[in-house]
Amino acid sequence: MCEGGFNQSYDMLDINKIREDFPILGDTVYNRPLVYLDNAATTQKPRQVVECISQCYYHRNANVHRGVHYLSQEATEAHEQARESVRSFINARSTSEIVFTRGTTESINLVASSFGETLKEGDEVIVSQMEHHSDIVPWQLLASRRGIRLKVWKFDADGVLHVDDLKALLSDRVRLVAVAQASNTLGTVNPIKEIATVVHGAGALLLVDGAQSVPHFPVDVRDLDCDFLAFSGHKIYGPTGIGVLYGKEQVLERMPPYQGGGEMIDHVTFEKTTFNVLPYKFEAGTPDFIGSAALKAALDYVSALGIENVAAYESQLVDYMIGCLAEIPQIRIFGPRQRIGVASFLVGEIHPYDLGTILDHLGIAVRTGHHCAQPTMDAFKVDGMVRASVAVYNTKEEIDTLIESIMRAMRMFH
Ligand SMILES: *Cc1c(COP(=O)(O)O)cnc(C)c1O
Repeated sequence: MCEGGFNQSYDMLDINKIREDFPILGDTVYNRPLVYLDNAATTQKPRQVVECISQCYYHRNANVHRGVHYLSQEATEAHEQARESVRSFINARSTSEIVFTRGTTESINLVASSFGETLKEGDEVIVSQMEHHSDIVPWQLLASRRGIRLKVWKFDADGVLHVDDLKALLSDRVRLVAVAQASNTLGTVNPIKEIATVVHGAGALLLVDGAQSVPHFPVDVRDLDCDFLAFSGHKIYGPTGIGVLYGKEQVLERMPPYQGGGEMIDHVTFEKTTFNVLPYKFEAGTPDFIGSAALKAALDYVSALGIENVAAYESQLVDYMIGCLAEIPQIRIFGPRQRIGVASFLVGEIHPYDLGTILDHLGIAVRTGHHCAQPTMDAFKVDGMVRASVAVYNTKEEIDTLIESIMRAMRMFH
């Protein structure tokens, strides 16, 4: 419907066939076909993942690592195969470097708590201004607990971070820099490899929030050379409640345990307790072994499509979306032209909540509000934005419906 190059002959992926794997995409809301464009908040699940969960509960349910019985061994093996799938998906050196958590938020809290214990008063941590609250608040809590200083790496008017600005903030007091590989609000993709070189040059560690990168383009932790990478299963077609912390082995080795309990110990007496080896040292209690198996099913699903193909298709979809949105009069699109999967915008004086409500009644699911990134909103001096975010199952036609619906909403406000 709008100008803009969408390569109709693109045939690396059969999107209609992919859509059949996601039953929810055939549903209606308010008697209209659902157009799900809130993928940066969570993605829908393919049958392969949901069926894995029910099969695990029906036929493979036993606690891992403890029993000698058949089912327990089978469950343990599935859990460890899932760890291997994660390792291979992000190209980590060893499964010792893959810790299962509840999600990105818990992964970052783990580092803030555990690595945080090695910090002393006067040490500094740098976070970028475009971070999600889950990559800001744990560092603030740590700062007030241990008397360390939090410094903010600001972005420019286009929502782009400049490495020179980071260099100006670095000093020998800085122990860690935390930055998203891709912003959930602006779609900015940050040059992690270059950032890692600069951060390591200053003797600090680099934590990467991969919640919006791992699902959308190939991420290779060895190539990036980051010290930590966090991501969530539910944003990559997997289940809620499971996520991953990657940490370099030599870094994790030096960190104290995060939580205490079963599984993370080697030997317990009341005099002295010794801890298990990596990664179990950081996994107290019964792990979500059903979630890990389902996460593996999700990663297998993406790998079968090819993450490069997913990235190429989504990039085309986002280009088309940004191009179409830009033609709408009085629209403000936040973030750089070159971006991944999300478009945050405001139209004229229409309140984002009002626009979101109208779009909802037209069957379109978008996010409205601060997107868990209030400092980003503050930087642009707005209270909220409307955000449309894509996944591999979205289509050009759905983007057209979004644009038509925004135009319709605008007519209602005039
Ligand atoms: C969603 C998101 C998080 C938080 O993930 P949870 O799954 O809620 O723990 C952190 N950072 C970014 C960039 C996100 O998009």
